[in-house]
Amino acid sequence: MPELPEVEIVRRGLESRARGRRVRAVRVREARLRWPVPDALDRYLAGAELRAVERRGKYLLFDFGHGTLLAHLGMSGNFRFLGDGLLEAPGRHDHVDVEFEHGTLRYRDPRRFGAMLWHPSTQGPVLAHPLLASLGVEPLSDAFDGALLHRAMRSRGGAIKPVLLAGGVVVGVGNIYASESLFRAGIRPTTVAQRIGPARCDRLARAIRETLDEAIERGGSTLRDFVSSDGAAGCYQAASLVYARAGEPCRVCGTAVRTIRQQQRSTYWCPRCQR
Ligand SMILES: [Zn+2]
Repeated sequence: MPELPEVEIVRRGLESRARGRRVRAVRVREARLRWPVPDALDRYLAGAELRAVERRGKYLLFDFGHGTLLAHLGMSGNFRFLGDGLLEAPGRHDHVDVEFEHGTLRYRDPRRFGAMLWHPSTQGPVLAHPLLASLGVEPLSDAFDGALLHRAMRSRGGAIKPVLLAGGVVVGVGNIYASESLFRAGIRPTTVAQRIGPARCDRLARAIRETLDEAIERGGSTLRDFVSSDGAAGCYQAASLVYARAGEPCRVCGTAVRTIRQQQRSTYWCPRCQR
């Protein structure tokens, strides 16, 4: 499943390739994604210029001025920008093409849990959209720091790792990145969130940002055409500190890495480095 770093890599790639281009037409071959792709998408977008590609959580926001195309990659979606001459015949999972001047943005999604929705600017700012309004803070933004994390933790009586995964405090800390960030911060994943003091929250906020930045850097350098489904996670995993390393020696102290299940998800941690 694409995680925040991969979505950010896709965003950067699309922004550099497609921004400033005008849409010629939209072709929807299969509208049945997680929610139906709007019938009128071609009418909404034809002639419009792509002003920016932004991201909120794992949603990509294609800003066309008079409205925003909201896209989510779901479990298995990816976008490719195919320049003139590179456009091949669509495969059976290539559900949507947005044809620009000199290039086509193609959406492929074998499992069809992704989404593509239209939000006209007459309905207010896109960030107030029901899918976006209740998302936690962006981990790579200036607003995210230890103080914010500490304030949010005070009302949370559960274990820290599921709190991070839930996305209500901070978005984008998926299963791999939660284990990795907690290891870097020296915090045991079962620690009750509200018992984590300000200094440890500072460390955790820093660790989350570093972990995600590193994953973006790694993925960005290996994904040539920024076609991303699980490329970045794969690369990251190969270099992980604790994730998927149960029984192997901790890279810092040599103690065997342990694993437990927390809310049906695997967690990895070092019993010596994390308290
Ligand atoms: Zn250790």
